[in-house]
Amino acid sequence: MGVIVQKYGGTAVGTIEKMKRIADRVIKKKEEGYDVVIVVSAMGETTNQLIEMAKCISDNPCKRELDVLMATGEQVSISLLSMIFKEKGYDSISLTVFQAGIKTEGIHTKNRIVEIDIDKVKRHLEEGKIVVVAGFQGINELGEITTLGRGGSDTTAVALAAKLQCPCEIYTDVDGIYGVDPRLYSKAKKLDYISYEEMMEMSSLGSKVMETRSIEIGYKYKVPIYVASSHKNVKGTYIKEFDESMEQKSITGISVNDDVLMVTINKVPYSLKNISNIFGKFARQEVNIDMISQTSPREGFVNISFTTSKEDESIVDEIGKELKEEFDDIEVQKDTNITKVSVVGLGMRTEPGVAYKVFSLFADNDISFKQVTTSEISISYTINASDKEKAVNVLCSAFNL
Ligand code: ADP
Ligand code: ASP
Ligand code: MG
Repeated sequence: MGVIVQKYGGTAVGTIEKMKRIADRVIKKKEEGYDVVIVVSAMGETTNQLIEMAKCISDNPCKRELDVLMATGEQVSISLLSMIFKEKGYDSISLTVFQAGIKTEGIHTKNRIVEIDIDKVKRHLEEGKIVVVAGFQGINELGEITTLGRGGSDTTAVALAAKLQCPCEIYTDVDGIYGVDPRLYSKAKKLDYISYEEMMEMSSLGSKVMETRSIEIGYKYKVPIYVASSHKNVKGTYIKEFDESMEQKSITGISVNDDVLMVTINKVPYSLKNISNIFGKFARQEVNIDMISQTSPREGFVNISFTTSKEDESIVDEIGKELKEEFDDIEVQKDTNITKVSVVGLGMRTEPGVAYKVFSLFADNDISFKQVTTSEISISYTINASDKEKAVNVLCSAFNL
């Protein structure tokens, strides 16, 4: 029958009862003749709780230790789930990331999978076992435990499927991919299909239903991905390569990202060197800068604004202090009441006027924006967080999402 990778998210494995229910679903697949690899997240809110504990010690806890801490969450779920399979009479083995051979590189808490030594997983499958792998974590070149960034169990699952050359099923707390997060717009419509490119763009712009890197890997290795509910038996969404049978709309989806910290640095003495030095400081601390705008020089000064993740606020504060010591007049302001709203669609490549349509909708509804950026298949606007609901309603109804 072949191999299949199934991934169950935090809510799906939130309690032992829920784990028992998903175990029955897995066993059904096994009985159909599949070799099954299961990837699981930490139970319920475990990862958040672990981070909260670390934050009681420091605003900026040591990232190596944070990885060691966060990685414990998934180990609890794999062992419990494997026990459940055994209790139900099915041979199973849980594999921590060391045992599953998932090699990563990069900085702690944001590692990337570079290789998977898949032989061990294959051997266990050949022995008829249900293999349960800890999501979200890896081992780096120094043998240290690492994590893949929030939502990283999706990436573990798709990477394993790529290596095993099999499909990947993602079971979560929504019954598929919608045009917009159904928690933000209750009338949102579920998509039957979405292209890898659109899903990747939506994820990177804030639709956390799938982790961005997982789609990148799926796209590269052509892994068929199916996203569906872990507890309901209803049809989900296929993520696959675009083909002509898929409905072509100008906008396929909207992404909303509240994790936006807007930083404005006023009165920077204008020189290209100063500006590159400022961004150099953020780059060295691995702060990911998103939207950037700069005023034109006035009396030898410019104001620079950019957005980044709220997670990096303490690093922004440190760099702000350094800058004030270097430049007398500089002022650093932070704004956290910002939301980024993005419209995404492959149709934008050929259909002009989408930006104009959004500008008009915002103008008619009195929604002001601070910055706009575009890519080939998306346009993003930063708006005041207080306008979020209005913007989502207006865009979803105009684009029929
Ligand atoms: P899991 O723990 O299973 O990985 P996540 O919380 O990471 O689940 O992802 C599922 C959540 O993604 C949903 O509860 C939903 O609120 C959110 N979400 C965001 N954008 C979308 C979208 N376009 N379609 C469906 N769900 C979305
Ligand atoms: N447990 C990790 C997180 O909450 C990974 C995941 O759920 O995918 O981010
Ligand atoms: Mg997730």
